[in-house]
Amino acid sequence: MSEIRITGGCQCGAVRYALHEQPDGAHICHCRMCQKAFGSFFAPFIGVEQSAFELTRGELSVFKSSDPTERGFCNRCGTPLTIHDRHSSRIGVSIGSLDEPEKFEPVSQCGIESRMSWFGQLAALPGDKTTEEDNPDFTAKIAASNHQHPDHDTAVWPPPGT
Ligand SMILES: [Zn+2]
Ligand SMILES: [Zn+2]
Repeated sequence: MSEIRITGGCQCGAVRYALHEQPDGAHICHCRMCQKAFGSFFAPFIGVEQSAFELTRGELSVFKSSDPTERGFCNRCGTPLTIHDRHSSRIGVSIGSLDEPEKFEPVSQCGIESRMSWFGQLAALPGDKTTEEDNPDFTAKIAASNHQHPDHDTAVWPPPGT
């Protein structure tokens, strides 16, 4: 197996995976099915050969959004993780579930017939950092009760004693 190991997983940490080849084809899909599946305006995916996708913890739950299309997710926290067309040898992985999503910049988009008409203006909206930045008490509460799995593999999750 190759030296490449790119990791990711769901929000709660029950499902973790590793990619063993450099993924490609990073894109966002605006189609209505992806909007529903992600509860968002679009879905960001990157692809690898199925043989290069390894589940390292837990199981994928699957929803068949159409006969050929299986969408894998964590049934504990709901994070969308994969998309697979049963006629394809490749599997799509949600970029946001990768431990280092910043590294995988989309190079194309599809499903643009369903793209929100104001999508192109989102990045120009007035913005704030998360409230944690300027509210130390709230930040402390979040930090003390954070149930999100960290952005790296862990030997045991949740931590013992929690
Ligand atoms: Zn989960
Ligand atoms: Zn789509």
